[in-house]
Amino acid sequence: MSGVNGASASVDTEAVLAAIESRTDDLIALTSDLVGFDTTVRGDACEKARDEADLQEYLAARLRAAGATADVFTPKPGDLPASPQTPPGLGFDGRPQLIARFAGTGGGRSLLFNGHIDVVSAEPRNEWTSNPFVADVRDGRLYGRGTCDMKGGIAAAVIAAETLAALGIRLPGDLLINTATDEEWNGAGTLASVGYGVRADAAIVPEPTDLDVVTAQRGILGGSVTVAGVPGHAEYPPGDWRTGGAVNAIEKMLPVLAALQGVREGWAADKAHAHPLLPAPSIVPTVIKGGEWWVTYPASCEVALDVTYLPVQADAGGWASRVRTDIETAVAKAVSADPWLAAHPPAFAWDVELPPAEVDQGHPLVGFLLDTATRLGRSPRILGEPSWTDAATLTRLADTPAVCLGPTATRPDGSPTLHTIDEYIEISDLVATAKTLALTALAMTAPAPAAS
Ligand SMILES: [Zn+2]
Repeated sequence: MSGVNGASASVDTEAVLAAIESRTDDLIALTSDLVGFDTTVRGDACEKARDEADLQEYLAARLRAAGATADVFTPKPGDLPASPQTPPGLGFDGRPQLIARFAGTGGGRSLLFNGHIDVVSAEPRNEWTSNPFVADVRDGRLYGRGTCDMKGGIAAAVIAAETLAALGIRLPGDLLINTATDEEWNGAGTLASVGYGVRADAAIVPEPTDLDVVTAQRGILGGSVTVAGVPGHAEYPPGDWRTGGAVNAIEKMLPVLAALQGVREGWAADKAHAHPLLPAPSIVPTVIKGGEWWVTYPASCEVALDVTYLPVQADAGGWASRVRTDIETAVAKAVSADPWLAAHPPAFAWDVELPPAEVDQGHPLVGFLLDTATRLGRSPRILGEPSWTDAATLTRLADTPAVCLGPTATRPDGSPTLHTIDEYIEISDLVATAKTLALTALAMTAPAPAAS
C-alpha cells in the first residue's frame, strides 16, 4: 500500500484507519472514563485539587501498557518559568502533569500531542439532561462535561498512539503525549510541563476546531481599572470636591468606559491591527463593582477588563507591555478634561497575561494535517482562534510550533458546544480526529526530507 503525506511507504495507512474505526467503542469508553474524573478547573491558587492525580495516573498506566514511558510529576512552587501567566509561587498539590513518550527508532522528527485535563464548571448542574460527569451516548453524540473541551481530543490522541503501537508500527521520531492542568485558568499546567522540559519538533493540541487547522491566536491580558470618589450623603447636594464635597465614583467611571470603548473602536478600524485569521483586538469591561451604601455617594468604582491583542501588538519579548501603555495613555488623554479625573487618574492594575502566538502556515505539520483531514472527506481550513489555548505556550516558550486540530465545536446552527449545558461531541468526529492524529504522526515523525 502507498504511504500518505510522506509517511513510510511500508506502512499500510488504510490498515491504520480501519484499526481506529474498529476501536470506536474503546474511544467512547476512554472519553467516558476521562469525563468521570471531576477535574473542574480551580479559580484561584488556594482551591483544593479534585480528581486530577487519579486521571493522570489512569492515563499513565494506560500509555505504559501500550509501550510508552510515562512520567507523572507534581511541579513545586518556584518550578514554573518566570512568566506573567501565573501568580508567583503557584503550587500544584494534587494537580500533577503527565508526559509520556513512545520512543522513536531514530532519525525522525518528534511530535507532541498536548491536551488539558481541566474542564470548566458544570454548574448549574440541574439544567443538564444527564449527569455532566457520567458520559451519555444519545443520537450518535457523547454528552458530558469535557467531551468537547477537551477530554474527547485527549482520548483521540491516546487511541491514535495506542493503535499505531498495537499495529507494531515503530515511528522514526518520538511521539509524545502531555496532559496538563489549569488551561482554563491561566495555562499553568502546560507552562509547568515546558519548565520540566517538554518540547518537540512540532505539536498538535486537539482542542475542538471542526477538524480545521488553527495556526494563530490572540494574546490575553486581564486586569482592572479603579476610579476614586468621595463619600457623602446621596440625598444632599455633593458640593465642590476642592472644598471637601462628595464625588460619585460610579459616574466618574462613565468617561473611562467611553474611553475604553474608543480604544476598542480605534483598534477595530486600524488597518495595522488587521490579521487575516484573527478577530480585531478588543477590550471588554466584564465586571463592575462600586459603592458602599445606597444612600451614599460611592467612594470607589472598579471595572474588570478582558483584553485580547494580536501578535503584531506584542512587545519585543512577546508580551503585552505596549498594549498596557496604549490603553493607559488613551484613557488618561480622554479623561484629562475632567478636573476630578485629571487630579485623581484612573488606576490600572494588570494581572494575568497570556501570550499571542502564530505558526507559519507553510510548516510541514500544517500541510500534513490538511492532507489527512481532506483524505477523510473533510474540507479543512486554516483558521485563527478567537480565544487562547496552550498551543501558544508551546509555540512561544518551548520552541515547539503548535497548532490546534480536533473535533467539531459547534451545533448544526453554528453555536458553540464548549463550556455549555449539555456539552457534547459527535462520535464520528472523535473517530475522525483519532484517524487524523494517527496519520499525521506517521507523516510528521518521518525523517525530514534533505534540503536541496
Ligand atoms: Zn480547551
